[in-house]
Amino acid sequence: MTYNTQPTASHFVDGKYVEDKAGDPIPVIYPATGEVIATVYSATPAIIDQALAAAKRAGKEWASMTGTQRGRVLRRAADIMRERNHELSVLETFDTGKPYQETSVADATSGADALEYFGGLAGAITGEHIQLGDDFVYTRREPLGVCVGIGAWNYPTQIASWKGAPALACGNTMVFKPSETTPLCALKVAEILHEAGAPAGVYNVIQGYGAVGAALITDTRVAKVSLTGSVPTGRKVYAAAAEGIRAVTMELGGKSPLVIFDDADLENAVSGAILGNFYSSGQVCSNGTRVFVQKGIKEAFLARIAERLKGVKMGDPQDPEVNFGPMVSQRQRDIVAGFIAKGIAEGARLVTGGKVVDGNGFFIEPTVFADVTDDMTIAREEIFGPVLSVLDFDTEDEILARANDTEFGLAAGVFTADLTRAHRMVAGFEAGTCYINTYNLAPVEAPFGGSKLSGVGRENSKAAIEHYSQIKGVYVAMGDVEAPF
Ligand code: NDP
Repeated sequence: MTYNTQPTASHFVDGKYVEDKAGDPIPVIYPATGEVIATVYSATPAIIDQALAAAKRAGKEWASMTGTQRGRVLRRAADIMRERNHELSVLETFDTGKPYQETSVADATSGADALEYFGGLAGAITGEHIQLGDDFVYTRREPLGVCVGIGAWNYPTQIASWKGAPALACGNTMVFKPSETTPLCALKVAEILHEAGAPAGVYNVIQGYGAVGAALITDTRVAKVSLTGSVPTGRKVYAAAAEGIRAVTMELGGKSPLVIFDDADLENAVSGAILGNFYSSGQVCSNGTRVFVQKGIKEAFLARIAERLKGVKMGDPQDPEVNFGPMVSQRQRDIVAGFIAKGIAEGARLVTGGKVVDGNGFFIEPTVFADVTDDMTIAREEIFGPVLSVLDFDTEDEILARANDTEFGLAAGVFTADLTRAHRMVAGFEAGTCYINTYNLAPVEAPFGGSKLSGVGRENSKAAIEHYSQIKGVYVAMGDVEAPF
């Protein structure tokens, strides 16, 4: 790896990099070439204990600071992150294989936005006053304590920041475990936060497979768990957290509908479908992978999207001209290839793409299927790759029930020129994150999260404060105490 600012050890605990090679080695593979570019070591019980002990200890000092003081640290970290956007984007591209063209505008920048936004909010986190005659109640909005963050592999910098920023703004501390597939970037988030002035132990990163996450969740020092991952992992993590009645945020998978009516602006609808299926080579949880296209516009839509996909430039993701990277791993590429084969076997029409690209990298072509029906596997299961399915529909009456006919509820979108219809559709969507005439934007000011199997709680926006703090009610008597005897 020709990159000299990569993390210097596997874990960042109590304000410094630490190593313990007794842990299982985890090879870090560059998805574009299949080469091993680094090795980290899974956290041993000793490292897990050090991280939790540091987070517990640091919580006292961190929570006793004013919100403005904590916010200043977060905003300084945001500035450092922006200054180092180039290096962080190069690292993100090595970690994930996503093209630099994307990482340079969507990862460290999004992490910095979260740090800046929650840094700004930190001083405004308050309780309230409730007057009861002469007596009154006031509420204190207090931190929860040690929060555990567990990340998926698609947005390692963003996920580490989206969880860390609101947690720290509220006065909590964090132990974050990245996915073992992309372990490098979160370490840089920890390094930057501490350089910006976070006391040692406030934000720790430790590596490991699921077992390390499981050990963190069940530790009695932990107050809250925030997971970004798949539904099966979500079930396990939620159940383990329930043992200790711990608070959870669950950002899980999806199979989101994107509904395109005849009256939609075709070019914008095609752009929305591209953003909702091929960004990050399709490895985005909120992707609108079930693209319902009204029959009158269907053939024009298919022709135009096939044309637009000719603009895909696959290759070395570090090349700023390249706009389409590999899958994160060989395993993920094989899973996606399996879904494509199933789509063909079940009778979907392959419009474009569909092939694994020869070579050592984990590339797969952007793929569009037409004539997909509601019961096909590719229309029901989350693929997490660049596979767009077009399903036909006739009328507004039928489409809402079909769009909602999924156990997931992460996102949904509609393209139409009829604004009242757009709002009707959005009111009917069973999804936490909806779009009208665009798709997949996730600014920090807006709540992000899912309903149904797609999750619990919300990230980003003021809503995240609710999920990283608790209210204490305090009754204050101004007169004598009356008792019956
Ligand atoms: P996984 O569910 O496989 O893993 C998520 C994280 O959980 C990893 O760090 C994993 O560790 C860890 N983990 C696995 N088992 C356990 C366990 N028993 N206890 C504690 N932690 C555990 O997800 P992927 O990494 O494969 O990511 C893809 C999934 O994430 C997709 O379903 C996608 O939709 C979802 N996602 C959701 C988002 C959202 O905001 N809603 C955003 C991005 C992705 P390890 O990797 O070491 O096994």
